[in-house]
Amino acid sequence: MGDCAHMKDDGGCEVKPDRQSNQQFDPKRPEGDIVITKSVGQGGVNIYDDVYNIQYGLDQVAPIDGGPSPQLVIDGLCGPKTIKAIRDFQVKHFGWAGCDSRIDPGQQTLAKLNEKRNRNVYPTIPLSLNTDGWLLTGMLQHVPHTRSCVHAAMTNISLAMAVADSQDSGFLGSNRQQRMKLLNRHFKIDNFKVRLPILQQMHDTYGFMLNVLNRPEAFITLDTDNSGENISSVSIARLGGFHDKKDVSGRIRLRRGVFLATGIQDFAAHIFIHELRHFVAKDGTQGHFAKGWVTDPGMQALRETETVNNCDTFAGFALEAKNGEMERPPWIKSDVFR
Ligand SMILES: [Zn+2]
Repeated sequence: MGDCAHMKDDGGCEVKPDRQSNQQFDPKRPEGDIVITKSVGQGGVNIYDDVYNIQYGLDQVAPIDGGPSPQLVIDGLCGPKTIKAIRDFQVKHFGWAGCDSRIDPGQQTLAKLNEKRNRNVYPTIPLSLNTDGWLLTGMLQHVPHTRSCVHAAMTNISLAMAVADSQDSGFLGSNRQQRMKLLNRHFKIDNFKVRLPILQQMHDTYGFMLNVLNRPEAFITLDTDNSGENISSVSIARLGGFHDKKDVSGRIRLRRGVFLATGIQDFAAHIFIHELRHFVAKDGTQGHFAKGWVTDPGMQALRETETVNNCDTFAGFALEAKNGEMERPPWIKSDVFR
């Protein structure tokens, strides 16, 4: 998977080129069952559109179900690799006796192919709301969880605000330490001489996020015009876009890299909160100082003035405010920007 790496002026999350984003696919992908007009494969008629559809379908079959590995290049041309992929698929399901390396309209191989296709595969680009709408739906199902993480963060900050600028001593001392614990772990709040205004600002930031999460359909969509492909393969958001009342085009746009996160609610929440930090920023602070989990060296090395603006810090804090202190999640990507 690609990841958010360097910050662009527009607030997007630039990413190193990832293996899959170099491939360019014809946008006319088949929707629903794959249909062909003439035979495809060894000795077949091999009309461009038919070959294209078969290649697309084969790439949606997992290798364990006889799909090609590596995946075919979808180019509408029936070469040796496409023929081999058809043969392997037939051998897997019908044995050598049922194998002629060719797929004919209305015959058993085509029926089996449509049966074995996993429609929810890592999507090709550009994304389309028709074919890839499940990606958006899959992420939006985690909005309630994300909202409760943001709520938990705000509650934690509120409790800390009552004691943040008081003396650390006596009975209140242990109480204070407890209330400040998570904020210090992530944001090093006690390194600030005066904490209340900082906490108030953080509370406001999470509050803006809540506004977005209360109306996700107004602010979150798929990146269907492909404009973010060279910036991030996961998600992009315009810096401060939430506050720009004149231009509403800069929504949070999900890219195909959210594929894995659709099944992991903390992962989805982490992506959302990271992007939301870009989206609701008021002062133009970019938010990429280090990426990763709070215990990663790059995150530990952040200064307190950086933590209070860092996208991943906002995400990690909210997750732990909700879940309690967590093991480092396996899906976290780590990066340092300086
Ligand atoms: Zn980012």
